Amino acid sequence: MIRLSNVIKSFDTKQGTLTAVDNVNLSIESGEIYGIIGYSGAGKSTLVRMFNGLEKPTKGEITLGDSVISKLTGKALREKRQKIGMIFQHFNLLWSRTVLENILLPLEIANVPKHDQLEKAYELIRLVGLEGREDAYPAELSGGQKQRVGIARALANEPTLLLCDEATSALDPQTTDEVLELLLEINKRLNLTIVMITHEMHVVRKICHKVAVMEKGKIVEEGNVLEVFKRPQQEITKRFIRQDT
Ligand code: ATP
Ligand code: MG
Repeated sequence: MIRLSNVIKSFDTKQGTLTAVDNVNLSIESGEIYGIIGYSGAGKSTLVRMFNGLEKPTKGEITLGDSVISKLTGKALREKRQKIGMIFQHFNLLWSRTVLENILLPLEIANVPKHDQLEKAYELIRLVGLEGREDAYPAELSGGQKQRVGIARALANEPTLLLCDEATSALDPQTTDEVLELLLEINKRLNLTIVMITHEMHVVRKICHKVAVMEKGKIVEEGNVLEVFKRPQQEITKRFIRQDT
């Protein structure tokens, strides 16, 4: 599904060149829930922003399905991006639009016929459990409900990949678990590939099949979650596991 080979991303800053992603090789299979864990500044968001072409690698290549996303531009990139959903820590909802209108937005952008738009939006509202709240504004919702809108909106154009950047970091532990349960159910039901950026091992343990640990732009450890929990190799991984208890 996703292949990265020798991916480097550096930024020119006043202090010189900053390498945010430093020679990453990675494979994520279709249907997997893949966790990327690391401390602030490790390069997690930069890495994942290259998955949907929001950032271009300085070097290396990223393949998504049968296309090299790192080489796409213009219309081809926009079309590909419509098939990649993304959710965020602070939800990024439109505050002046209702729940229904937020979910309709990507369908409008994709020029889905009007009648199909509504049908799809209501199907998504049911999927994320927001029946009855379609006319509410984001400000009237709890954090967990806001993220459910974010998830519904991300799924509107039937993506093959869902990117989650700290999607539960603004939520309390119980709401975090509810949102994770929902993502797990969606993964199973739609066989959707999910990439979860997090700094909490709890999130990885709860829903991820595989995990990569990032430190200073590099992946320092990677594998099946059960294996990594049983036999962590790196000090940083051990630290994340200790914090989780
Ligand atoms: P956090 O957990 O805080 O979200 P992160 O692991 O997602 O951190 P990134 O946001 O990917 O980290 O940032 C990695 C490094 O790249 C940081 O040092 C950051 O300052 C730098 N960086 C990211 N985007 C840019 C940019 N557009 N220009 C310059 N530097 C950047
Ligand atoms: Mg980040």
